[in-house]
Amino acid sequence: MSEELKPCPFCGSPAELEQEKYSMEYFCWCSNENCGCADIHEYKDARLAIRAWNTRPIEDELRTALKKAMEILLTDDEQAKAELFLELKGLT
Ligand SMILES: [Zn+2]
Repeated sequence: MSEELKPCPFCGSPAELEQEKYSMEYFCWCSNENCGCADIHEYKDARLAIRAWNTRPIEDELRTALKKAMEILLTDDEQAKAELFLELKGLT
């Protein structure tokens, strides 16, 4: 089963995987014609093109931080909550 494409990181529209007809290599692009986002790199393997498109380090970092915050908020550890508050305050 192939990995699903994440939506465009800029506008949230669905992404497309395409095979270039001359080089036969793969690339991903945003389906919103007003956006214009595309991975300019081409890959011999569709899975590599999808993996590159789906790489979102900042998004992944925020998800990890959010998960950690949710775990702390569900505890009775007031010290951890205070530290979390200061940590989040530093991000804003
Ligand atoms: Zn887009």
